[in-house]
Amino acid sequence: MKKTKYQQELEKEPFYNIKDEEFGEEVKFEIGKDAFKGPFTCHEAKTILIEKKTSYGDLNFTYNVWQCRKCKKEYLDFKQANRYEKFLIINKLLEDELITIERNMNYNGKTFFFRFPKELTNNLRKEDLAEIKLLTPDGKMFLVEIKHRD
Ligand SMILES: [Zn+2]
Repeated sequence: MKKTKYQQELEKEPFYNIKDEEFGEEVKFEIGKDAFKGPFTCHEAKTILIEKKTSYGDLNFTYNVWQCRKCKKEYLDFKQANRYEKFLIINKLLEDELITIERNMNYNGKTFFFRFPKELTNNLRKEDLAEIKLLTPDGKMFLVEIKHRD
């Protein structure tokens, strides 16, 4: 797909772009660099909050973006981007496209544990916190997010 001039211009701007090329149509937002929270300013005016809908199979997703009234450019603030990112992860989960790693369960007589693959530990620190979300009531499916303590 060839990029329009407008797209090329957008990419030069100092924003972080969420791009998901696998995700059908063009999904393009910009996250305000310093702004954790909208509204943003575009064309010398404050962006307005609009509701958008997207669906993926039976999964419907409603979300808000900030939009410039004039150029219609859409911006996501940090919270909106986070939510959208989760939606993309769920889609990948449904399609079974997530990178999956198998580990042996270890037991030291008291505690069950498994080791992280070395390749994934470069950014980890000893003080990090593992936030574990239980996904199924039988305790066999988890979502683990490693968070740095500030
Ligand atoms: Zn604008």
